[in-house]
Amino acid sequence: MTDFQVRNPATAAVIDTVHDHTAAEAAAQVDAAQAAFEDWRAVAPRRRAEVLMAAHRAMLDDAERLRDIIVAENGKSQADAAAEVTYAAEFFRWYAEEAVRTPGDYAPAPAGGVRNVVTRHPVGVAVLITPWNFPAAMATRKIAPALAAGCTVLLKPASETPLTALAIAEILTQAGVPEGAVQVAATSSASSVVSAWLADERVRKLSFTGSTGIGRRLLAQCAERVVNTSMELGGNAPFIVTADADLEAAVDGAMVAKFRNSGQACTAANRFYVHADVAEEFIAAFGRRIEQLTVGDPAAGAAIGPVIHAKAAAAIRDLIDGAVAAGARIAHHAALPAGEGAAGLDQEAFVAPTLLADVPADADILREEIFGPVAPVVVYTDQDEMIARANDSEVGLSSYVFAGNLQRAMQIGERLEAGMVGINRGIVSDPSAPFGGVKQAGIGREGGSFGIEEFTEPQYLSVDWSTV
Ligand code: NAP
Repeated sequence: MTDFQVRNPATAAVIDTVHDHTAAEAAAQVDAAQAAFEDWRAVAPRRRAEVLMAAHRAMLDDAERLRDIIVAENGKSQADAAAEVTYAAEFFRWYAEEAVRTPGDYAPAPAGGVRNVVTRHPVGVAVLITPWNFPAAMATRKIAPALAAGCTVLLKPASETPLTALAIAEILTQAGVPEGAVQVAATSSASSVVSAWLADERVRKLSFTGSTGIGRRLLAQCAERVVNTSMELGGNAPFIVTADADLEAAVDGAMVAKFRNSGQACTAANRFYVHADVAEEFIAAFGRRIEQLTVGDPAAGAAIGPVIHAKAAAAIRDLIDGAVAAGARIAHHAALPAGEGAAGLDQEAFVAPTLLADVPADADILREEIFGPVAPVVVYTDQDEMIARANDSEVGLSSYVFAGNLQRAMQIGERLEAGMVGINRGIVSDPSAPFGGVKQAGIGREGGSFGIEEFTEPQYLSVDWSTV
């Protein structure tokens, strides 16, 4: 039996060790998941809903402990972690309400005589893979609809953040989820555990959230057995500010869209396109807010913590250096922790929140998912050209439009190749709405009534009532 270590990204200190699941253990988990599925699928939807509602309550009752676990293993601010716990818990309540609403369909066939009756069935044992940036919400956004639909799940959390997932699994057990229905495999060897699961014929579903690169590899692996897949992959969100935008609202929106989780969100604003008429004013106001951000240990109340580890920080710093070499200018930045405030911190894991101005429209930083607290601003004059640039990305997850004229905002929004558009808002995540992307940002949707459909399969019964 081996364990692996979990570290606090702010200090690099080991905070816990967890059991390191092997491929053999993962394979055995499928037996329990399949046995639990046979029972859980037959549990009345109302009862499944009650269990999910109890999980919602239990998560909120345990909110402070969960917040502290997230802060410790992920490094996000206390405010961001607290908001994540509430958001994550809400998926249990939303899907408690959806569990009793999985309607089918009935229609007479156009040729007459035959009736088409359509019912929905749980897809079966589902493998869930989640990233480290929202260790609670990415798990509940999958677990809740899966359980609501009657599926059982095998969850592999990111190796950086297994503690939140393990805590949520305990809460689910207390809420009444039967043994075997939710099993977590924390592991340092993702590919062997997941391969063991995906090789098993009884596993019918993969729901993955993570990078587009790993998503492509898993899609190829799922093709071997034609496993049903849902993919929530990378983003590169444009954030558009038109000449008539309310600039105060745009700056508020930019702060949330860029600096939530230190910029480590798939929905994070990655490229700012600001109209030339308001660019100077927007940059000055956004820059002032950035300079006020406190960077340091989130456990001590800093607004911006470290990024997930020193290697990620180095990659972000390389992107800044590359942009500057291409002609961009560091117009504003916050101060890094120094003096007493830096004592005990892993300085290498911190990146100063930075506003880059004069960014050339073809700079590499506009093509890469930055995943850090850096805001590159491009000035535009021609709306069509700006929209073409905003759409010039292989991924289309979220995007943001700030415009004074709502009609213009909606027109721009509809032309953006993105699964989600924040109109005069810097946040789009909502358990009641379909979250997901177009192009290589993914396949399928999580949240809303769409989310539960990902865990069901329609069955069509062709019934001839005319020949009796
Ligand atoms: P990642 O490297 O793709 O990892 C995501 C998960 O996949 C982790 O649990 C990881 O395990 C696992 N994994 C890695 N290689 C694997 C393999 N060969 N087989 C099976 N599983 C494997 O992504 P990340 O760095 O954790 O997260 C950041 C990315 O997630 C960003 O691109 C972000 O945009 C995306 N994201 C998307 C959404 C969305 O809803 N669209 C939401 C949040 C994040 P280990 O930790 O053990 O490597």
